[in-house]
Amino acid sequence: MAGEPAVERFEFVEVHMGVDFRLLFYAPDADSANRAAQAAFARVAELDALLSDYEPDSELMRLCATAGQGQAVPVSKDLWHVLERSQQLAKATDGAFDVTVGPLVRLWRQARRTRKLPDPQALQQARQAVGFEFVRLVPECQSVELKQPRMQLDLGGIAMGYAADEALRVLREQGMPSALVDASGDIVVGDAPPDAAGWRIGLPPLEAEQPPHRYLLLSHAAVTTSGDAFQHVEIAGRRYSHIIDPATGLGLAEQRSVTVIAPDCMTADSLATALCVLGPERGLEFIKQMPAAEAMFLWREGDLVCSRETSGFASREVRAEKND
Ligand code: AMP
Ligand code: MG
Repeated sequence: MAGEPAVERFEFVEVHMGVDFRLLFYAPDADSANRAAQAAFARVAELDALLSDYEPDSELMRLCATAGQGQAVPVSKDLWHVLERSQQLAKATDGAFDVTVGPLVRLWRQARRTRKLPDPQALQQARQAVGFEFVRLVPECQSVELKQPRMQLDLGGIAMGYAADEALRVLREQGMPSALVDASGDIVVGDAPPDAAGWRIGLPPLEAEQPPHRYLLLSHAAVTTSGDAFQHVEIAGRRYSHIIDPATGLGLAEQRSVTVIAPDCMTADSLATALCVLGPERGLEFIKQMPAAEAMFLWREGDLVCSRETSGFASREVRAEKND
């Protein structure tokens, strides 16, 4: 339109939180685009230093070191925010989503290396330190107590979504409202690209190597897909997902994926992980109570790929031909 400043499309990729973080946005020139991208990446790096379970001196790991000592320790605003949301979802899903699964995630990583399931004793011991009810949040002083010894929190199912939301927020603050942030499948978008109705986003099919099977057109929304296509270990002919079923202590053995559309990426990310554990039946029942969220399940039955979704999911879809 005449009188509107011309903008160009810019793309930046950096590795953060162990994955490619991709920023796609429209900016008037390369200098301001660079500045905005650096500010967004700096915020993601800051969050990683707080929330990572890989960095031994992250704030999260320092909190875990206090497990079982009978004290509530004050935490940063960011860690508080993520833990508060995690606990809400844990309660709402009866513990299907549970960030205390850390000891079980460690056993899963070991199983991936050794190709052996954990022995029953190790599993039993790990499970004693797992349970969202062992996390005590004290809102008055934003403090957290981990009530059992050897508890390990793992924010892998929610922190990436929060980091993507924060990167998008920083881009907007820097004057780049027309933006997409893709944290390796946790995707959040702001204003639509100029001259487009939204961002066109391909959804991965059940097998990750295959091209997208459906496309969404989104603005001011987030979409995340969780499932075993992305990470799994095969033991004795069975696939175990990196998503733990707290009811068994093992990785989910069903081959399924869940795509969630929600207003923000922290919600989409955590719900996708939660619904994966709940499965299509219970998962669709659960998400029906959330008017702002949509979900689609894919799963395998023999040679067949089955699919079920909420009634509003297809209204966010566009035809597959055009590229974004
Ligand atoms: P996502 O890829 O977002 O579905 O998250 C998977 C990651 O979440 C895993 O790699 C673990 O770090 C963590 N996780 C695994 N099982 C659970 C669970 N039942 N509840 C919450 N987080 C989990
Ligand atoms: Mg997730």
